[in-house]
Amino acid sequence: MPSTASNKAGQTVVVLGTGGTIAGVAARADDHVGYKAGQLGAQALVAAVPALAERADLVVEAETLAQLDSCDMDHGTWLALLERARAVLARPEVAGLVVTHGTDTLEETAYFLHRALAPHKPLVFTAAMRPATALSADGPQNLLDAVTLASTAGARGVLVAFGGKVFAGADLRKVHGYRVEAFDAGDAGVVGVMADGRLQRYRPWPDEPPHVAAAALPPAAAWPLVDILMSHAGARGEVIDAFVAAGARGIVIAGTGNGSVHRALVEAARRAEAAGVVVRRASRCQLGGVVGSRPDSLPSAGMRTAPQARIELVLDLIAATR
Ligand code: ASP
Repeated sequence: MPSTASNKAGQTVVVLGTGGTIAGVAARADDHVGYKAGQLGAQALVAAVPALAERADLVVEAETLAQLDSCDMDHGTWLALLERARAVLARPEVAGLVVTHGTDTLEETAYFLHRALAPHKPLVFTAAMRPATALSADGPQNLLDAVTLASTAGARGVLVAFGGKVFAGADLRKVHGYRVEAFDAGDAGVVGVMADGRLQRYRPWPDEPPHVAAAALPPAAAWPLVDILMSHAGARGEVIDAFVAAGARGIVIAGTGNGSVHRALVEAARRAEAAGVVVRRASRCQLGGVVGSRPDSLPSAGMRTAPQARIELVLDLIAATR
């Protein structure tokens, strides 16, 4: 899709659109729910922030990669984003990349890019909880903060600029479905805050080698099937049997509390393990994860959210076949 650039001199930040509420449009300005996500392209999002055009030191390019409601995010789009991000960040004049995304699966896409790319330049995700047509649209300020962060000297790794806060992509979790303050970093806390157009940083940049070399990732259709289910009162082991019958090679159980799992699920999980399926337990609690391990329980996913534990397990299974 088209890419635009001004003829200003200076460093470049590329804004890559993938859809979401930040690109969403409603019929009425007071409609925060009945809008359609992923309607505006990246060029329109950039054009809605005049302060970006006013930055004499910055060339902002805009490109639309996808127009998804992020609840429909898929592995093929992740691979396309990974490839595009790698190409953009390899350009010497590019200081950083901004990816606009829906909030619903932002913690998953950010985690995937963190583990598959772990860039030395900043790759900054941003999003919005209100559509672009809302009276109180939060997208434009978030986009301005994201571009500022992507052009901040020394910034690196997968980051998220949202609501004036800067999160490490790996720590992000969506904790509210409607409020503008929708994200948290759990016990890790934020990397910093954007205050009046400047970053105030409180902790080191995310720094971790990629889990799997990007070149080693097979096409999406060949990714091992890994599914998530939740432990709850009255849980049934037959659900796990059904996952296995449907081809799951890995299962993440979002356990109760500190990753405890209903005994009916544990019993079924042991059957799945005996059949070669890898099972891990996370926590269904919004904050925190699974602390410590117990010899009698299923392997722990640690502090990762269940969707992030799912990605880690997919990458582990891919790595195991290399
Ligand atoms: N359903 C939207 C999405 O994730 C929600 C949002 O962006 O806030 O694309």
